[in-house]
Amino acid sequence: PVAIAAPLPRRARQATLAWGARLVTVGGAAPVRVQSMTNTDTVDAIATAIQVKELAQAGSELVRITVNTPEAAAAVPHIREQLDKMGESVPLIGDFHYNGHRLLTDFPACAQALSKYRINPGNVGRGDKHDKQFGQMIDAALRWNKAVRIGVNWGSLDQDLLADLMDANSRRSVPWQLRQVMYEALISSAIGSARRAEAMGLDGDQIILSCKLSGVQDLIAVYRALARRCDYALHLGLTEAGMATKGTVASTAALAVLLQEGIGDTIRVSLTPQPGQARAQEVLVATEILQALGLRAFVPSVTACPGCGRTTSTLFQDLAKQIDDFLRDRMPVWRLRYPGVENLRVAVMGCIVNGPGESRHADIGISLPGTGEAPAAPVFIDGQKAMTLRGDNIASEFHQLVERYIEK
Ligand code: SF4
Repeated sequence: PVAIAAPLPRRARQATLAWGARLVTVGGAAPVRVQSMTNTDTVDAIATAIQVKELAQAGSELVRITVNTPEAAAAVPHIREQLDKMGESVPLIGDFHYNGHRLLTDFPACAQALSKYRINPGNVGRGDKHDKQFGQMIDAALRWNKAVRIGVNWGSLDQDLLADLMDANSRRSVPWQLRQVMYEALISSAIGSARRAEAMGLDGDQIILSCKLSGVQDLIAVYRALARRCDYALHLGLTEAGMATKGTVASTAALAVLLQEGIGDTIRVSLTPQPGQARAQEVLVATEILQALGLRAFVPSVTACPGCGRTTSTLFQDLAKQIDDFLRDRMPVWRLRYPGVENLRVAVMGCIVNGPGESRHADIGISLPGTGEAPAAPVFIDGQKAMTLRGDNIASEFHQLVERYIEK
């Protein structure tokens, strides 16, 4: 028999992000977590809190906000307060660059309101200042008992480290290609910073690493090496993935390969939003990636065929869309009422060719009549033909059957 493919397990350390009674674990045996980032001005506490809540409701289990100025740092406790008032306990992550050491020191309420600090070792000063400022951020994490993400990005690499590596490489008997030097700089920066944080007393379980690049093959190569060389929990994401289809496909290609190898404990899909597009789109893509890989389930899945010359009416397309929208709209209520409903599989198929087969594989499925077929739509429940729908109300009757199935 052919072996059943399943993601390879990778045992990472487990970090815990806490807010009040809410604990979100990352790594270890925890499911791969979805995270996202706001694009509001953090100084606008109300707008930021509203967007954080939208992202959390879409499925983001951790939300990162920019903390770039004293005004933004001062707004962070108010954002947390607004979220608490709205009953939203999603942990907040502060994204710091250049001045994080000062902001975390000068604004203790900000340091306290966040559940994790993102530190980019390439943006905490150079030379002697680097170690001092990095140390100040770790001190804040120790003081407030917070997790940190050492988040390296190849757009902002530690230039001193890169120069040292270039220098050392020139003395190698077989020099690396420039790309290999860059990879090594990213990985050394992340792991070296994590070791430094541990030496200062930070628990290795409270450290998450990331090394983000914008090329799919680059990202895969770096994360494979990173996973081999350390056991810290890993945050995964293709940085600057781009817009719309390109960003979605590139993120999916990179993340799917790594997740299938058991690499990645939390993911973000970094999409450039289209004008007017909701920020939560990136969360939907992230959840769909995990669901398609069978790693998590967030909403019931609808299997629908693409249609072809056998489907001259749009009945099945309309029904597939209606059912999908209906299931997603009802999920906030169903999730509380019917545990496990997210694992439901519904099939809406266009004709007899693959319709009955796909419908039998689903929990509940319908095979609509294609061109030239009798105007009858067999419905399959739990793999058995349960009834045949006829007439003008096939769509609404199937809708009701799905709802009844879920209630049952
Ligand atoms: Fe075409 Fe039928 Fe296949 Fe759908 S199931 S793509 S309608 S042949």
